[in-house]
This record gives sequence, structure tokens and C-alpha cells, in this order.
Amino acid sequence: MTTTPTTSPPRIAPLPPAEWPPDLRSLLADSRQDGPGRENLFGTLAHHPVLAHAWLSLARVLTHEGALGHRRRELIVLRVAHRLDAGYVHRRHRIPAADAGLTAAEIDATAADPTAHPWSAEDRALLEAADLLAANSPLSEGLWDRLAHALSPGQLVELLVLAGQTATMCTTLNTLRTPSDRPPSLTVLLDRDRCCSAGQCVGAAPEVFEQDESDGRVALLVPDPDARYADEVRFAADLCPGGAITLLDHEETAHP
Ligand code: SF4
Repeated sequence: MTTTPTTSPPRIAPLPPAEWPPDLRSLLADSRQDGPGRENLFGTLAHHPVLAHAWLSLARVLTHEGALGHRRRELIVLRVAHRLDAGYVHRRHRIPAADAGLTAAEIDATAADPTAHPWSAEDRALLEAADLLAANSPLSEGLWDRLAHALSPGQLVELLVLAGQTATMCTTLNTLRTPSDRPPSLTVLLDRDRCCSAGQCVGAAPEVFEQDESDGRVALLVPDPDARYADEVRFAADLCPGGAITLLDHEETAHP
């Protein structure tokens, strides 16, 4: 996989979380278990909320209700991302892939010549299919027979939809030159019972905190903010008169 140049600015800049529709924020909060690193994807989709909802609903089905299984899914996603030179997607899926059981060597091997790694026969068929689908090329009868030997009809349908959805995501992000998310440098814990609604945190870090209009207290927009907001969030925590904000950095130390 060659590296897509990142020096050019994005053609459409991702919207900051404060400008996302509320249901998009909820979807991101619900998907925290799938790993950090999608703020710029969500921020890009936020330009088209209806489409974002449909896209993320499909992604959620493929991730949590799919029939393929997590390991096969991540293998397909990584390989399609590699073939389409989508560094954003390939990097972001390293953690879910490891969680799904792929070894570090296997993850690296998805971005290399498949013959250089001792893949199983089923893995090799999946990788070959991913290569062809990413190139919009037909699958041979021989390859289809190998896939059909390993997968049910439902899994085969899902494989094609998954490859297509991944390719669409890669093409969208590549074309828009969407930058990779910087890894979150901290996690924000908010004790709303201690919030006295003074609002200093919202003023200091509006991309991370917002005032809940129903009760005046503060709500979190993003629990794992992008590193670019770290200084603002630390300032907000220092300002908070109620001691309602606790920060956990990557070294697991509490601040303040
Ligand atoms: S600064 Fe603290 S007390 Fe004030 S609104 Fe924010 S969380 Fe609540």
C-alpha cells in the first residue's frame, strides 16, 4: 500500500462534533466499543445527516449483526482498504482486526503480496475476492466455488456488500483527502451530579462539552476527544468549580 499524500487540505473539512446533529453524536457514543479514531469520518458524514444515518446503520449491522464473523470481516476490510490505498481505513482497522483475532503479522500481511504469508485456503480465497471486488473485476467460477465451499449463501451476500461498502468508504475519504484522526490523548469523565451549570467548560472546549438545555448542566459531546482538543479540555478541567471533570490520559493517570 502506498501512502496517500496528506499535505493537501481536505476538499471538504470534517465538521467538529459541536456541529453534528444530536443523533450522530449518539451513534458515535454507541460505537465507542468499536474503537476510537472515526471523528473525521463522522465529521465528514455530518455534512449529510440523512446519508450519515443510513451509512452508519449499515456499518452497525455489518459490524454487530453480520453473519461472516469478525475475523473474516476485518480481513476483507483491511484488504480492500489496502487495494484502494486507503491508509485512513487500514490504520483505523488495525485495532478491531486484532480484537477479531488477526495477529500483527496477519494484519501487516494484508498490505503485502498474499503469497508471502502462509494464509489458510479460506483466508486466501477471501483475500483474492477482496482484490477482485476492490478492482470491480468479476470473480471466476473457480474462486466462487472455493468461497461457496466455505461460506453460506447469506455470508456470501454479506461478503459482497461488505466489500462494496468498504470500497465506497475508501473512495469517499480518499477523494475528499479526509485526514486520519490523531489518536485520543485522554478520556473525559464527567460527573453530572457535581456540575453546577456555570458553563466554563463549554466556553473553554465547545468541541467537547455542551450545555444541556433541559437542565442547564453539561453533557459530553465526545468522551475520547481528538488530540487537537487536549489543551482546551485540560483548561476546562482546571476551570471547573465543581470538580466534575476528570481526565484520564494515555498513561492512565488522573488529571487533576
Ligand atoms: S465547568 Fe464544571 S461545573 Fe461548570 S458547567 Fe462545566 S462541568 Fe459543570
